[in-house]
Amino acid sequence: MNPSRHEHTIAGSCQVTGRGYWTGQAVTVEMHPAACGSGIRMIRSDLPSQPECPANLQYREAVAMRTNLIKGEARFQMVEHLMAALAGMEIDNCIVEVNGEELPGLDGSSLGYVEQLATAGLVIQAQARKHLVIRERYRIGQPESWIEFSPSLRGESCFEYQLSFDDETPIVPQAFQVELTPDRFMREIASARTFVTMQQAEEIRAAGVGSHVTNQDLLVIGEDGPIDNHFRFTNECARHKTLDLIGDLALAGVDIVGRVTSFRGGHRLNAEAAARISELFVSESAHADSQPNNRIQRPEAA
Ligand SMILES: [Zn+2]
Repeated sequence: MNPSRHEHTIAGSCQVTGRGYWTGQAVTVEMHPAACGSGIRMIRSDLPSQPECPANLQYREAVAMRTNLIKGEARFQMVEHLMAALAGMEIDNCIVEVNGEELPGLDGSSLGYVEQLATAGLVIQAQARKHLVIRERYRIGQPESWIEFSPSLRGESCFEYQLSFDDETPIVPQAFQVELTPDRFMREIASARTFVTMQQAEEIRAAGVGSHVTNQDLLVIGEDGPIDNHFRFTNECARHKTLDLIGDLALAGVDIVGRVTSFRGGHRLNAEAAARISELFVSESAHADSQPNNRIQRPEAA
């Protein structure tokens, strides 16, 4: 990620269709170009008033196992894989129209979004992208699950996920790290799929949701690996957790220049990390504004 880059939008519109994991509802996501500085704007195109919710941390709803946004009638479930696709491809401004509440599960990854967005193409915009340079190391969370930020040596953005579940799960400890660029996101992260253990899948189905979801629609991991499916990468689970981390941190609305390492983090901790990034960005901006050298030089009055 280039810290001095400009904002991007897409050159044309594109769409993705599918069914939501939780609701089973068929849904279409239309993505359209948007003006610089406008961010990611989510619109419920199926409702008469077409209510809108900015894809911003302040509208995140605290729920288990996914990231939802809510602003009045504008409700969206499972936005993280769309947000990861947009952030990973450095698409900062986009109007996203969804004709239902839950975004499509697709194959459990961001690949469906990435393919359509890549076909639409990117446009460089006039405004510089906001970014936060991490200047010191700090950590949030608990000893058993944390996210740490630390400075990077060359102004790069690095993401790392260390996965280590409890002994009784069939998912082996694994890690993934990447210096994030759109190219590497597309090749190494976008296709990594959501996963659950067989026990989790049974619990979810017993709760009466996701009955239409098959073992091909995500990874259901048993003692001998994925059931009726194959890993795309040996560390696909750690890559998918990295994808979720990128998507959830994107709700802070700024690029992170530095290293982000998550040890067993999930959506809740990702949201805390995004809040920290947002606070730091606001305080750094206020500090920069108070420095005389950073003020805009105004011409002397005649
Ligand atoms: Zn996910």
